[in-house]
Amino acid sequence: MHRCTRLLVAASAFAGILSVPAQPAHPVPYAHLSRHPVVALTFDDLPSAGGLAPGETRVGIVTRLAAELRAAHLEGTYGFVIGSDLEDDDDAQQALRIWLDAGMNIGNHTWSHPSLTTLTAPAYERDIARNEPTLQRYAGHRNWHWFRYPYLDEGDTVAKRDSVRAWLQNHGYRIAQVTLTFQDDDFSDPYDRCTAQHNDAAIAWLKQSYMENVAEFIRLGREEQRLAFGREIPNVLLLHATRFTTLMLPSLLDLLHQQGFRFASLESVLSDSAYSLDPHAGVVNGGPFQNLFLNARHLKYPPFKPEPTEQLDSLCR
Ligand SMILES: [Zn+2]
Repeated sequence: MHRCTRLLVAASAFAGILSVPAQPAHPVPYAHLSRHPVVALTFDDLPSAGGLAPGETRVGIVTRLAAELRAAHLEGTYGFVIGSDLEDDDDAQQALRIWLDAGMNIGNHTWSHPSLTTLTAPAYERDIARNEPTLQRYAGHRNWHWFRYPYLDEGDTVAKRDSVRAWLQNHGYRIAQVTLTFQDDDFSDPYDRCTAQHNDAAIAWLKQSYMENVAEFIRLGREEQRLAFGREIPNVLLLHATRFTTLMLPSLLDLLHQQGFRFASLESVLSDSAYSLDPHAGVVNGGPFQNLFLNARHLKYPPFKPEPTEQLDSLCR
């Protein structure tokens, strides 16, 4: 099951509140954007993101992903763990050990991945706390007190938002905000289907479409930051440890290099002063960090080409 898929709906619906309709693809003007943006990579739903193709294992995927990250000198990358996924799953448990043994870090993504919009604050806080023994057991001495909201949903009301933020602060957490996301996990099941069919033409389209989607949503996130903060801020990129994102990671890193990105730790990125700002607004189903400010200030979103969801859903059926 793709837990973060709903973010796509949330982000689209959210953007739809205030944005102009999506525009057709057009040459991307990067000239006005920073020449050397900064980004920290993060992975959600570790170690069980997306479906699992026949013959594939979490151990296999995470082993390859960690090797790619190490080859790019990205040790210390954070993965956000859902504890319930580890129960009675030796493959998932071993995969998480491999992630940590490779020099990566873990943070809290709740026990069962609820949306804050659907729960009371106390129930949500209990779900965060329920994940802690698992994180403690795996992380040992490492700092696992980083929290990633499932679906990037920080609460549909200010009261709920403030309650959970206060709970996190009182329990020593920092919030691992996200500025860049492109629904990478939506490409996972189509890739598995097309691979099973040996459909090389469809796989080639998937790879091209994935990279186009990356470029478009990175541009969008950066444009949104300029509107929300008057500048680009150091970025946090949300990815998932799926088979396809692991396969595409070298191409993604190449694109980021081509666009002048420098890689930084999550701690370094989130030390930017922008991350101490609070929009003091509830947002149904949430969204990336800068979007919360655009929404609170009733600012208009830049146009963007949406993800090809219909093609992805119908591909290799
Ligand atoms: Zn998630």
